[in-house]
Amino acid sequence: MKRQPTIEWQVCGTCNYDCSYCIQSKVYRTGHPTPEQVEQFLQFFAGLPKRFEIKMTGGEPFAFRGFMDRIVPGLIERTPHTISVLTNLSAPLSLIERFATLTQGRLGVVSASLHLEFTSPESFVEKAVLLRAKMDPRSHLTINTVLVPGRLSAVLAARDIVEQAGLKLFPQIMKIDGGTASYSNEDQAMIASLVGEKPTPDRANMAPSYKGKLCYAGVDYLVLLQNGDGWSCRTARRFKQGFLGNVFAGTLKQWESASPCPYNICPCTVPANRGMIEGISAAQRKYQQEHEDSDEKELPDATLIPLSRLQVGDFRA
Ligand code: SF4
Ligand code: SF4
Repeated sequence: MKRQPTIEWQVCGTCNYDCSYCIQSKVYRTGHPTPEQVEQFLQFFAGLPKRFEIKMTGGEPFAFRGFMDRIVPGLIERTPHTISVLTNLSAPLSLIERFATLTQGRLGVVSASLHLEFTSPESFVEKAVLLRAKMDPRSHLTINTVLVPGRLSAVLAARDIVEQAGLKLFPQIMKIDGGTASYSNEDQAMIASLVGEKPTPDRANMAPSYKGKLCYAGVDYLVLLQNGDGWSCRTARRFKQGFLGNVFAGTLKQWESASPCPYNICPCTVPANRGMIEGISAAQRKYQQEHEDSDEKELPDATLIPLSRLQVGDFRA
């Protein structure tokens, strides 16, 4: 499968949870763009010259009122892009159902994170099942949870509840200070049971190293922050490398060619699962299939390259 061009957009820092293992420190977990800045983001997305998957993260996107009031409707009305979201699924059910209805025909992935410090697996799964029933049938629902050292019995119990509901748990190795957490032997045995043998990036996030492999981060994938800054990937940003420019300043540009990964850890599975990394198969998803091979003829230039693109950036295909 060809690469799925993807932008991970941190729509806000605001979050209604305060997980002890959050990779974002509390000082950064605040704020959201102004209504004018939201319009600038939408203008930027409307001007992109090809179809992207816009995967929205936070913070917690649903905790920012502008997410459902303006961002989701704006992406649907003004752009051709696929809409994906990472959420803790704590929003009221009525809001989640509205999201599922609004995004029919446009939804990619809902990554629902089960945070056992803030919710029970039973109530979380109940909501996830209701969402599954309402969301676009070609979209993909994944249930993530962080493998916190010393707390894995609770994850094993939660997995049973998730699987009994016909859903799959996506375990994520816990990240600390740019590396991964240490696990006792007992924990490691439980992790083996949770992730299976040699898990692929669409089965579990083991935060591997792809050092030396050719990667299209910065070319067909980037991370966009709520302040408009674009970075080639999360790890690059951590090292203050891979800065691509700023949406509000009209300076965002992608790199022209792939380059070998220089980092010891790839903490997020989005680049791998979207086909950005040499030798790593992209995840097969129904929502991508209908767009393969058809984007060029489906999307007339007049729709894709309005003047606004020239005003807000030069992010060329
Ligand atoms: S829900 Fe996500 S963003 Fe919010 S505190 Fe927990 S891990 Fe961090
Ligand atoms: S492999 Fe991962 S860490 Fe390395 S450059 Fe690509 S996205 Fe970044």
